[in-house]
Amino acid sequence: MKKLFAALCLLTAFAMVAAGCGGKKDTAGTDAKKVLKVGTEPTFAPFEFQEKDSKDFTGFDMELIRAIGKQMGMTVEIKNLGFDALIPSLNSGNIDAAIAGMSITEARKKAVTFSDSYYTSGLTIVVTKDNDAIKSLKDLEGKKIAVQIGTTGADKAASVPGAQVKRFNTNSEVFLELNNKNADAVIIDKPVAEYFLVREGKGKDKLVGDTMDAEPYGIAVKKDSKLAGEINKALAELKKNGEYNKIYEKWFGKAPKAN
Ligand code: GLN
Repeated sequence: MKKLFAALCLLTAFAMVAAGCGGKKDTAGTDAKKVLKVGTEPTFAPFEFQEKDSKDFTGFDMELIRAIGKQMGMTVEIKNLGFDALIPSLNSGNIDAAIAGMSITEARKKAVTFSDSYYTSGLTIVVTKDNDAIKSLKDLEGKKIAVQIGTTGADKAASVPGAQVKRFNTNSEVFLELNNKNADAVIIDKPVAEYFLVREGKGKDKLVGDTMDAEPYGIAVKKDSKLAGEINKALAELKKNGEYNKIYEKWFGKAPKAN
C-alpha cells in the first residue's frame, strides 16, 4: 500500500513537472522578438534594391542590417522611403534606423547620430559612351547633371558653375534621364555606378574622371539615440566573427580593405 502511494506521488509530481516545462516552452516559443524598423531607398544597387519582379529588399546594406538585427536579438523590418525622407522619418520616430548608402557628413551629423562607418565610398561621373567632351568635374560647367534628391551627388552637382541640376526621387530615373539624352552626366556613388555599368548601363554608358572625396557610409539613428552604441557593438562583433567579410565578399567579389 505504502509502495503504491509512493508510486502515485511520484507520477503526480512527474506529471506536474512535465506540464510546467511544457508551459514554459510555449511561452518562450511565442515570445515575439523586438522589431527594428529600418528605412531605406531601394534604387541603389548593390547596397539596396529589389530584383526585377520581386518585392524583397536585397543588397549589401540589407544583408548587413539583418545580420546586425539578429546580433541584437531583433527582427528587422524594412521600410521603403524616399532618400530625402529618411532623416525626417528618424526624427519623427517612424523608423528606428536608416541604412541607405548614406554618407556620414557634417551637415547630417547635426540632425542625426551615425554608427561607425561600415563602407568607404566616393562620388564619380557617368556619361554616355559616345561622350568624349566630359572627362572631369570641370567639364560639367554649364551642363545638365542628373542626380538623386538630397544626396551628396546632388550637392556636388550644385557646386558646378552654371550647371543645370536635374533632381529625381530614384536612381532609376537618374540613369534614365542620362540615357534618354536629357542629361549630359550623372554624379553618383562609384560602387553604384560600377554595378550599373555591367548591367543596365552595359554598352551604353561609361565612368569618367577620378573618384571624388572618400565618403564613409554610416547607419543613421535619431540624434543621440543609444541605439547607435548597440549597432556599433553588433557591427564590431560581425567584423570579428567573419560575418561582415562574408557579406562584403558576396556583394563586392573581394575582401574589404583593412581599416
Ligand atoms: N552616398 C550618397 C549620400 O549619402 C548617396 C546615397 C544614396 O543615393 N542612397 O548622399
